[in-house]
Amino acid sequence: MTKQTIYWPPERQDSGVREAAAAIAAGGVVAFPTETVYGLGGDARSGEAVARIFAAKGRPSDNPLIVHLADAAEADALASSIGPLERRLMAAFWPGPLTLVLPVRPGAVSERVTAGLDTVAVRVPAHALAQRLIAAAGCPIAAPSANRSGRPSPTLARHVLEDLDGRIDGVLDGGPTGVGLESTVVRVVDGVIHVLRPGGVTAEQLQEAAGADVPVVSGGGPTGERHSSPEAEDAEAPRSPGVKYTHYAPKGVMTLVAADDPGRLRAAVQAQADAARQSGGRVGILACDEHAGAYRADAVLALGPRDEPRQAAQALYAALRECDERGLDYIVAESFPERGIGAALMNRMAKAAGGRIVRA
Ligand code: AMP
Ligand code: MG
Repeated sequence: MTKQTIYWPPERQDSGVREAAAAIAAGGVVAFPTETVYGLGGDARSGEAVARIFAAKGRPSDNPLIVHLADAAEADALASSIGPLERRLMAAFWPGPLTLVLPVRPGAVSERVTAGLDTVAVRVPAHALAQRLIAAAGCPIAAPSANRSGRPSPTLARHVLEDLDGRIDGVLDGGPTGVGLESTVVRVVDGVIHVLRPGGVTAEQLQEAAGADVPVVSGGGPTGERHSSPEAEDAEAPRSPGVKYTHYAPKGVMTLVAADDPGRLRAAVQAQADAARQSGGRVGILACDEHAGAYRADAVLALGPRDEPRQAAQALYAALRECDERGLDYIVAESFPERGIGAALMNRMAKAAGGRIVRA
């Protein structure tokens, strides 16, 4: 599968949107920026276009895709019913990084989008280029993150080309994405908001928008343990099929170190890095700005101030890719506080670590 991938630079956005929309309308697949990460979009109604998305990414076909709309009003064409609580969430967070899993209207999108489920995941992205592209294409756009399956999601157009050059029709460059992590995926069942995947909208924000009397329950901690055993999967109400796959992983072996006390955290991270160095490989450390200067390793990457998890979220995926570029065999990462977007940040870091978490 080798094709010419067109690069539309930021200074050619108008013609870029026109040409990218035409490519999508013709059944092609195009990468575009959203406020979360870059997406790889195709016409959600076309089985062939959706098959091209899966093929370009190397994504397992039982992992359904999120459908992106230019306007909340279009959700009624995709969902067979939308309840009052779901409408409240749409009004509060769209456009924005919240994905709602809704009962699908039969025939509204290709069955490849939903992986044969009776639900469809929908959101309206808060990014001007994404909105213009979707409106110009004139169709709902199915779009997973624009990376090879298993790699960290792209937060720059350059990351998209690293993974998908020659495999997709084009990429619209809109500069760095804002949130840096994927959307929050929720499903409402019997008046309860189930968070299937933490993301750009925090649990605290969901609770505030829904009201104190509405339960907001999480689909698993940062390790995703509730999803890890078949029994747990059966016992659980709604699930996000994607959580069972390895995600966001650098090539090196990553260990996440968790501790509440900053002194203990620093000591444990350095001890892990020293132990990894003994084995002869190249070792990198991911740390907050305050601690980065004091570590000894082959590379130390600072993710931002300890109390600014938004900055670390924005920086994480680029840092994981940099670990690969620097040829690091081992990566030791500091945990960040799990408040606000810190919960989504720790979820992704735990996944990048493949569940290797050390508590100090
Ligand atoms: P990505 O496209 O890589 O951002 O991943 C999309 C996420 O949304 C994955 O975790 C999917 O499993 C999840 N998802 C998509 N559609 C559904 C659905 N109908 N029900 C539950 N989760 C979904
Ligand atoms: Mg993804």
